[in-house]
Amino acid sequence: MANYDTVILDIEGTITPITFVKETLFPYVTSGLSTFLDRAWGSKELKNQIELLREQAKKDVDAHSNQAVIIPNESEASAAEIKSAVIETISWQMKADRKIGALKSFQGYMWKEGYESGELRGEVYDDVVPALDKWKADDKKIYIYSSGSVPAQKLLVGYSTKGDLMSYFSGYFDTGVGLKTESTSYKNIARQIGKENDTEHILFVTDNINEIFAAAKAGYQVVISDRPGNAPLGPESKNYKIVTSFDQI
Ligand SMILES: [Mg+2]
Repeated sequence: MANYDTVILDIEGTITPITFVKETLFPYVTSGLSTFLDRAWGSKELKNQIELLREQAKKDVDAHSNQAVIIPNESEASAAEIKSAVIETISWQMKADRKIGALKSFQGYMWKEGYESGELRGEVYDDVVPALDKWKADDKKIYIYSSGSVPAQKLLVGYSTKGDLMSYFSGYFDTGVGLKTESTSYKNIARQIGKENDTEHILFVTDNINEIFAAAKAGYQVVISDRPGNAPLGPESKNYKIVTSFDQI
């Protein structure tokens, strides 16, 4: 790649296997939810999280969303009824792979406990840390841009299979700056990191071709990450550099 002084990395399919999210993180929530609710019941944090889900559920019911159920208030229902509605709410939203704030927040809340207890560790490919070391040694700034929430990103890299990697990263971005398939999102990030007029010195690495198009349109340099288990690359990817390991960047 030509001169670049800033690297922005995707997570899923780029530094982390897609299977980690689908086969470890998501099942951790669905299979552990009931015992988690029993364990955390009565805590202020759980109350806050349920309130977020409750507000979202009300919006969904008002919008006549098929599977949406109301989560009753504590004054009008038993703990068992509230828990059951919470489980139903999370279950249908996760099956639909919904990217909604209240759900993401709840997932992050559960994952935090899993990471902190050592039950979860963010899977990071072997070739990633040597590349991070090299970029650091070359004084390049490194950021994350992922559709997972910023708190979830920090947990994954903070409690990773390669140790705490947080010191490598100068910042984290999620869909708060916009969708990953829209070029304005990449312009927003560039503005936030002081590189609004210098996007050609930013390198973005991701597995998703639509994200590649969007970042390239914003003037970024781009590299496609082709990892085991990723979606097959189409003919349109041939115009870009494709790597199967970070040492090829
Ligand atoms: Mg990805």
